[in-house]
Amino acid sequence: MKIFNTLNKTKEEFKPIEKNKIKMYVCGPTVYNYFHLGNARPFLFFDVVRNYFKYKGFDVTYIQNITDIDDKIIAKANDENVDYKDITQKYIKAFFEDLKQLNIQKATLNPKATDYLPEMIALIQDLVNKGYAYESQGDVYFAVDKKKDYGKLSGKNLDDLQAGARIEANTQKHNPFDFTLWKKAKAGEPFWESPWGNGRPGWHTECVVMSKKHLGQSFDIHGGGIDLIFPHHENELAQAEAIDDKPLANFWLHNGFLNIEGDKMSKSLNNFFTARDVLKKYNADTIRFFFLSKHYRSPIDYNQEILEESRIAINRFYEVFKKLPVYKENIINDHLSTDLTEIKNNFLAAMDDDFNTAKAIAYLFELSKICFNQNTEESHNIQAANLLYELGSVLGFFSKLKDELDNKIDDKAEKLITLLIEIRSLAKKQKNFEIADKIRNDLTQLNIELRDTIEGTNWSLKK
Ligand code: AMP
Ligand code: ZN
Repeated sequence: MKIFNTLNKTKEEFKPIEKNKIKMYVCGPTVYNYFHLGNARPFLFFDVVRNYFKYKGFDVTYIQNITDIDDKIIAKANDENVDYKDITQKYIKAFFEDLKQLNIQKATLNPKATDYLPEMIALIQDLVNKGYAYESQGDVYFAVDKKKDYGKLSGKNLDDLQAGARIEANTQKHNPFDFTLWKKAKAGEPFWESPWGNGRPGWHTECVVMSKKHLGQSFDIHGGGIDLIFPHHENELAQAEAIDDKPLANFWLHNGFLNIEGDKMSKSLNNFFTARDVLKKYNADTIRFFFLSKHYRSPIDYNQEILEESRIAINRFYEVFKKLPVYKENIINDHLSTDLTEIKNNFLAAMDDDFNTAKAIAYLFELSKICFNQNTEESHNIQAANLLYELGSVLGFFSKLKDELDNKIDDKAEKLITLLIEIRSLAKKQKNFEIADKIRNDLTQLNIELRDTIEGTNWSLKK
């Protein structure tokens, strides 16, 4: 399997550090707003990365942090005249709700920065002790000059940076590119006590601490959008390697931007649509198709027409499942016919080539064509539909269908539920409420809900 590694700017053969295990860290949201469709791109792409490794039999630990202390959060709390925690709690809840609506599975763990203050302070102290960091008027900075290979992830070097930049007048810093590890609190701001006075940690330090804490000294994959390469990931890498001279991550993966009329969709440009708003018009599979039909490193333009085309494409897959049954357990796929085996292998080869989801989707279309082929045996078409479901699920499609399959109730079970409902109404007539209640409660345990109406009792499956 080959993956493009931003660190070496080339596609490299991927080998996990530990056999059959993947340890992956992806920078998560800063929680002061609903996330927009651009933010959804990395969330969705790394969901696919995790699914694909799992499908290949790896045991995946996926850590995605939540930045719950930050200048923007404080500014928003001040604007609304509330505690910063009111802001973060609200948007953490919204973050998980929106992920769910997008059919993005949760990470193994979502650590929150404010839960790791002692570890962050210890790391900064360690950097000070080792001579990589210095305190200045209550702030602590990382001295970029001390890290000889500073810039290796982004391909920038300090001389070029200094030549190209407008140098800010900050007399506290030894070098204008020194970055903040600890920020002194202004009056009224939230703070934590530290050896350098009251303040809060810098964003780059937060991710180093949370990733190492949960994944160990070095891990396999570190991910995020390309805007994170510099300075965020460069500064994470610099700190981590200054501490123990071991790579923080072996592979650095970055997704391209979602643009809108040529600009990056972003909160600061105010040119964004929140994911929850887009979800009112397009379902999760359509949005997923919109992103995955392009390579993850290519830029994508937000475009209604392409979203409409995505909707049509997804509906075509759903036509297959309306026509042909699929089974949750893909029993028959153990003995795939040669043509289907070839398609499956092509799909895997596309995904093994730096997660080429665009190409992988083309094989899903080949499968759907086979499903509609009237000149082949129905059993073959059903096998194709099962494979379409299996491979589509790897890309995160069809999860609604999965719910339906999970909750499928066969004819016999349906008759048994009807029988229990009849026994329950007999029990009620005879004033045996103990039995009546037992039937209702036990069915509820099985996610079967009873509703008494004047016409009689109905049942439904709890969602
Ligand atoms: P933020 O909350 O701004 O830190 O962003 C969260 C994630 O979304 C990061 O991985 C960013 O790189 C990514 N991101 C932000 N804007 C875009 C965009 N327009 N297109 C793709 N990814 C983005
Ligand atoms: Zn990060």
